[in-house]
Amino acid sequence: MMAASLLRRDKKGTAAHLKADLNRIDNSSGVRQLQELLDAVLNPEKPAADSEALDWCKCLIAGGDGFEEFCITVRSYDNATLCGLVWTANFVAYRCRTCGISPCMSLCAECFNNGDHTGHDFNMFRSQAGGACDCGDSNVMRESG
Ligand SMILES: [Zn+2]
Ligand SMILES: [Zn+2]
Repeated sequence: MMAASLLRRDKKGTAAHLKADLNRIDNSSGVRQLQELLDAVLNPEKPAADSEALDWCKCLIAGGDGFEEFCITVRSYDNATLCGLVWTANFVAYRCRTCGISPCMSLCAECFNNGDHTGHDFNMFRSQAGGACDCGDSNVMRESG
């Protein structure tokens, strides 16, 4: 099936159909269709603020469910201890080598102050490229941090 014909179809139906295809053991046709669709939707020659493309992305991410419902589902997976604060460049953040498992862990000032890092090997740094608070993310830091 060509992307052009996919594009004319109902977004939700197509997204649900693609999701089903991609969940198959042999998902090559689903992958190909998704790539063709994304090539058409995210065509760089189209204006960036194309709300049609945005709608497509939302539908594809949600896999045929409503985007709002999808967001609610995602939020329900979110552990309440996660701060998840995202910052841009030149934000002052903290890094604690005692609590961190990964050397790239970083905490926002609020989470750092809320955790007890007395006597820990930590430093304060100015985030050059922006980042996100890893508080509560057990992949990068110990539960106690
Ligand atoms: Zn935080
Ligand atoms: Zn610490």
